[in-house]
Amino acid sequence: MTPMVDVLVIGGGNAALCAALVAREAGASVLLLEAAPREWRGGNSMHTRNLRCMHDAPQDVLTQAYAEEEFWQDLKKVTAGKTDEALARRVIRESSSVRGWMRRHGVHFQPSLSGTLHLSRSNAFFMGGGKALVNAYYRSAQSLGVQVRYETPVSGVELEAGRFVAARLESGARIEARACVLASGGFESNRDWLREAWGRDERGACLADNFLIRGTRFNQGVLLKDLLAQGADAVGDATQAHMVAIDARAPLYDGGIVTRVDCVSLGLMVNRDGERFYDEGEDFWPKRYAIWGRLVALQAGQVAHSIIDAKALGRFMPPVFRGAKADTLADLARQLGLPEAALRKTVADYNAACRVGHFDHEVLDDCHTEGLTPAKTHWALPIDTPPFHGYTLRPGVTFTYLGLKVDVRAAVHFGGAPSANLFAAGEVMAGNVLGQGYTAGVGMTIGTVFGRIAGASAAAAAASMTEDRRAAA
Ligand SMILES: Cc1cc2nc3c(=O)[nH]c(=O)nc-3n(C[C@H](O)[C@H](O)[C@H](O)COP(=O)(O)OP(=O)(O)OC[C@H]3O[C@@H](n4cnc5c(N)ncnc54)[C@H](O)[C@@H]3O)c2cc1C
Repeated sequence: MTPMVDVLVIGGGNAALCAALVAREAGASVLLLEAAPREWRGGNSMHTRNLRCMHDAPQDVLTQAYAEEEFWQDLKKVTAGKTDEALARRVIRESSSVRGWMRRHGVHFQPSLSGTLHLSRSNAFFMGGGKALVNAYYRSAQSLGVQVRYETPVSGVELEAGRFVAARLESGARIEARACVLASGGFESNRDWLREAWGRDERGACLADNFLIRGTRFNQGVLLKDLLAQGADAVGDATQAHMVAIDARAPLYDGGIVTRVDCVSLGLMVNRDGERFYDEGEDFWPKRYAIWGRLVALQAGQVAHSIIDAKALGRFMPPVFRGAKADTLADLARQLGLPEAALRKTVADYNAACRVGHFDHEVLDDCHTEGLTPAKTHWALPIDTPPFHGYTLRPGVTFTYLGLKVDVRAAVHFGGAPSANLFAAGEVMAGNVLGQGYTAGVGMTIGTVFGRIAGASAAAAAASMTEDRRAAA
């Protein structure tokens, strides 16, 4: 008979791998179950580029300082206070020391890429991106003796009074373990759940039918749903998600980072009626890019168009798809399928309202509009220099925030009480820290810190179960 494994890790992305590595380092036997085949392993983590780290002085690839208080204020601002301060501060503090451990498991870092705005101070970039990070962790896990099974989707877990007993596989098999870490991501790839959460517009159309998924197709939220149905405490709201406005031509899944269009703050965003609907210059792009998916989702047809002129070129990372290009606004409107007169009026009103001071995209500059609704509060330059460019954008869901309530040990809660041996990490619990909004790189920081906490907690829970058995024998 195969001996019972100490720690079962469900999921195969960053949080799962961090948990598996730490549990194994603590001496536990570890089995990791990944729904995806080997070539698609790594969930959304394979698409990432960086993580956000606090530091009090320049550190290897990070410039200047990014102190705990500043990180905390950034998080508080983007979440509008919808965050658990104790858990958030734990994430922030541990973010200062995780890179040494990551390096020991083969992750390399590089300074921020030019063209990625404002991130050299706060974010450490992975050399080779998230794919290289995930591959390094799998290599390290393999050499430490973590067992990995691909193409093994888990369909549910068996619990006894909030205690993990076994995982049920889609294949019908059952795997018992002394402790379990759930790191199976959000439910962003589950179209039916997105439809249910987002509902219909006034014409009866399902909003979520027009959403694209930026990452893996394997995050179906099966275990999140199962756990909530079995009485696990929830955090967050099913419509809150990290959602980016991405190129409408992106594939349905796994378009990744290159489908993002980063020129929004340099121009205007208009809906299908050719009208503006939000302040494009509200704050730095890394603090705002993740709200635009939701804003576009709330527009008719879930579509919008980013319009720039020649002055914006070279000031943002070029997207993978070429935009429409025209010498006149009328021609641009025709190419984008926008009402010509409406677009011309929107641009004319905006140009007339621009109060141009000293343009500087690196600071919250003084170029703004006056008497225009909605205002553009920074980087407001007239759209007057052909050729004009336009990109049609749709909501691209990165990950959902509805999750499992956990405590500082990453224990999943049932009716307010922590489970003795069931822990959660990554997107499946990120809503504890991120109730809404986003600040670049914090997803990987939460997954890394809570993955490590969950791995250590699960190894300790498994060890204490073994001790209890010995004492009882
Ligand atoms: C395009 C893109 C770019 C991003 N860039 C960044 C970035 O630069 N920095 C940053 O901080 N964040 C970024 N993010 C967000 C980041 O990917 C997540 O915050 C992070 O990867 C979450 O890690 P995770 O391990 O919780 O989830 P994932 O990496 O998504 O892993 C979930 C895993 O669970 C598996 N799984 C799901 N259901 C089951 C099941 N039933 N049984 C078994 N296995 C299952 C999946 O196959 C997958 O392996 C990005 C996301 C995307 C999509």
